[in-house]
Amino acid sequence: MRKFKKIKKFKALILLFSALLFLVGCGTGTATVPNIADRVLTQEKPVLRWGVKADTKLFGYYNIGKGEIEGFDVDIAKALTDVMTDGRGEVELIEVTSKTRIPLLLNGNIDGIVATMTISPAREEVVDFTQVYFDAGQSLLVPNDSHLNGLDDLTAEDTVIAIKGSTSAQNIRDLAQQVTVLELENYSEGFVALQSGQGDALTTDNAILLGMISENNNYRLAGENFTEEPYGIAISPEQTEFLALANEALDTIQENGVYDQIYDKWFGEVLGGEE
Ligand code: GLU
Repeated sequence: MRKFKKIKKFKALILLFSALLFLVGCGTGTATVPNIADRVLTQEKPVLRWGVKADTKLFGYYNIGKGEIEGFDVDIAKALTDVMTDGRGEVELIEVTSKTRIPLLLNGNIDGIVATMTISPAREEVVDFTQVYFDAGQSLLVPNDSHLNGLDDLTAEDTVIAIKGSTSAQNIRDLAQQVTVLELENYSEGFVALQSGQGDALTTDNAILLGMISENNNYRLAGENFTEEPYGIAISPEQTEFLALANEALDTIQENGVYDQIYDKWFGEVLGGEE
């Protein structure tokens, strides 16, 4: 019995000692961040993990029939991967929301964000962005019979639905301080809330709202865009070589016509001649 206890004690000491060694190791060792560009250029079949939306029609939307996420951002992510890896690479799509995308990127769960993300000074403090790959602007979505025809019509009586973590939520608070803002988790929730009368309008980028209208023509845009929302692909500030590769790949798809094909596929009808 005594011996057994001693062995147990000894084992516990060894465990404690190993744990201490591990902790010391973590403290002094220089944790190297895996270089994404190396992976892209040297692996035989590199997998790029892109953060995309799964609830945002026309950009990143889960198509239940096909069992996959599709949209403009998804096609851009695939085209960039093809160019960067000379067709060797594979794409893994990881669902993000406006609120989760930056933490997922900085934690290393995804390699880049292609998810309707506006390049803003506040975000540039924490992530790097590629050049602009899509120009949007914020607007309001309202029922066809709404009294609202633009930002100026909003009063203290109105509730505007916005999505957490979006520039749209911040902008509406700044530009229409009199309204009540109802912040929800994602765009599916937002549109359902508008449909069930929880708000007088839903605000986000015009192109996202046009995607909702393409599903349900009982809704319309109220007035002109009231902000500029240039989209960029966000990449961790530690991955400067990967950022350069992404920018080069964007140049390539703009020069070889692939970008235009993708643009026309998703926005040919809803945006017509608009850019
Ligand atoms: N472009 C805006 C943003 O980056 C709104 C769309 C979104 O929520 O992703 O926040």
